[in-house]
Amino acid sequence: MTEKYKEYSGTPLSSRDIKSGKVITFKWRPNAKYAWSVGIAYGRFLEELKNGKIIGRRCRECERILVPPRMFCEQCFRPTDEWVFVKDTGVINTFSLSYLDADARRIKTPIPVAVIDLDGASPGIGILHKLGNVDPKRIHIGMRVRAVWKPAKQREGSVTDIKYWEPI
Ligand SMILES: [Zn+2]
Repeated sequence: MTEKYKEYSGTPLSSRDIKSGKVITFKWRPNAKYAWSVGIAYGRFLEELKNGKIIGRRCRECERILVPPRMFCEQCFRPTDEWVFVKDTGVINTFSLSYLDADARRIKTPIPVAVIDLDGASPGIGILHKLGNVDPKRIHIGMRVRAVWKPAKQREGSVTDIKYWEPI
C-alpha cells in the first residue's frame, strides 16, 4: 500500500520561537577534542619547517619538485621518488592586499599575501604566505623574497614558523 502524505504533522519553528522559549530546549556545548595524522609527506614538511628548512618531493617521471611534498604525483598517477630540500628564497608569482583581518574586520593598513615560487621547486609550485617588511605599493610580480623565520626555539612545526617573506 502506498499512501502519500499531503501534510506532515508537526509545528514549524523559527530560531526566534526557540529563543523565546516557545518550546523546551536543551543547550549543550560538546567538549570535542581530536587529533589526526598529517601523513608522511606533510609530517616531514612540518618537521623540517621546525628545523628552518623547506622540503619537497621529486617525481622522476615528470621531473617536478612538489612543495609542499606529496607522496603521490597527481599528474603521473605514481608514487613520488625522493626528498629534495628547496631554498627559503623565491619569487612572487602573484599577490593580493587584504583589507580584512583574520576576523573579517576592515583594516586601514593592508596585509600583503603572496604565492611565492620557491627557488629549487618547479615553476608554478609555490606556497601562499604573508609578506612583511615591505611597502605595499612596491610589491610586484617577479619580486625576489626570502623567508623570515621565527627563532628556532619558538618554532613548532607549522607554516607560521616562517613569520613572513621580505624583499631581498
Ligand atoms: Zn609526476
